[in-house]
Amino acid sequence: METDTIAAISTPPGEGGIAIIRVSGPEAIPIADQIYHGKNNLENVPTHTVQYGHIVHPQTKERIDEVLVTVMRSPRTFTREDVVEISCHGGMIPVQATLEALLLSGARLAEPGEFTKRAFLNGRIDLSQAEAVIDLIRSKTNQAAKVAIQQAEGRLSRMIRRLRHDIVETLAHLAVNVDYPEYDAEELTSQYLVQRCESILKEIDQLLQTARQGKILREGIATVIVGRPNVGKSSLMNTLTQENKAIVTEIPGTTRDVIEEYVNVRGIPLRLLDTAGIRETEDVVERIGVERSREALAQADLVLLVLNYAEPLTDDDRKLLRLLQGYTKVVIVNKVDLPRRLDLEEVQSLIGETPLITTSIKEEKGIDQLEEAIARLFYLGKMEMTDQTYVSNTRHIHLLTQAKKSVQEVLNGIESGMPLDMVEIDLKNAWQYLGEVIGEAVAEDLIDQIFSQFCLGK
Ligand code: GDP
Ligand code: ZN
Repeated sequence: METDTIAAISTPPGEGGIAIIRVSGPEAIPIADQIYHGKNNLENVPTHTVQYGHIVHPQTKERIDEVLVTVMRSPRTFTREDVVEISCHGGMIPVQATLEALLLSGARLAEPGEFTKRAFLNGRIDLSQAEAVIDLIRSKTNQAAKVAIQQAEGRLSRMIRRLRHDIVETLAHLAVNVDYPEYDAEELTSQYLVQRCESILKEIDQLLQTARQGKILREGIATVIVGRPNVGKSSLMNTLTQENKAIVTEIPGTTRDVIEEYVNVRGIPLRLLDTAGIRETEDVVERIGVERSREALAQADLVLLVLNYAEPLTDDDRKLLRLLQGYTKVVIVNKVDLPRRLDLEEVQSLIGETPLITTSIKEEKGIDQLEEAIARLFYLGKMEMTDQTYVSNTRHIHLLTQAKKSVQEVLNGIESGMPLDMVEIDLKNAWQYLGEVIGEAVAEDLIDQIFSQFCLGK
């Protein structure tokens, strides 16, 4: 149990009229009571009730805001500690003043994700739920938030638990055969093992397949703008960031040392790549050459290729078009305000199904259509996002991959006629890896579970 009491504004900044300050810890109620004036003393009110009153500055005794205070006593709270939530409604300034008043009265400012961390440490949620909440804190758009919430609700946990249950059942069968070979040895055929393992493998694969979408939603679609010098790439970047309120973010704890620009295009998070090498230059192709832009492109989820309406197609354009085969892309023919010298039919024949959008960034034309095209690619493309469980976390992906390898080892072992107790080790490893995803992987626990299965089954 933590011994200090933390406080933070728990609603996003600047949104709506109401903001909630959350206080959690052993002193949450007395600290809140020091700055609260109302009919009742907060220390005496029943748990999970809402009190009306005012927040008063602890030193100047000035009235700060009119508030509703919710008192929730341990353990039936998000953190399992005493929690007080103060709903302020006077705008950002009184909210901040209220938080300051709490800090003056003995609370400490919470670190990002610290409430969630306490919920995890106190056993209220499992690790994958905690991570989903942290993703939620970091997520840039509503779409990403939705996925994070789904995960927080435990969908991934549920699927992992089911998989582990399947493994335990299979292990129980194995145990019968390995420890009591004389007892019902017939029952465990390798065919049964193969069947179970193949179905487990399929489920792990399905989880892993969603990993890419998860990454996209959490981190934004890595978008690279390419094109010859002077076609309007920088102008496009500026237009996209200005129209869509660029959010500059720093994700704590990541190794990336570049600041990325996120833009929200119709609910879709685009991460306009601004890597150290590229940032200095306006013209990716010119400065770093086609070979180097291949590197930048390697990370791209989406490519925006800009061509010039006022010039015929050049060899460099053709080179780029070839390079971009197989990428998800939009071709933008810019400068339609100038006389046409580009053969649009030739371009269309070179790009096939790829959407082609004509724009004049100078005259602010075609930007809507471009955004539409990006949105369509996203929503109708391969990236389905409805009602799935997304694996959106590098650690989960790693563990699932390890679990998959272990199950594959089981199958390889059976195929090569390995003794069953050797195979058993790989299956136990798979169970262990899956357990680490949800923060449960104690070996003794496995023994208990196998035992309970064994008894249940018999
Ligand atoms: P980049 O080299 O590809 O990044 O191109 P820039 O964005 O720097 O633009 C090159 C020049 O083209 C600048 O002078 C822009 O003002 C101009 N430009 C960009 N878009 C348009 C457009 O739609 N029409 C016209 N006429 N000029 C444009
Ligand atoms: Zn009042």
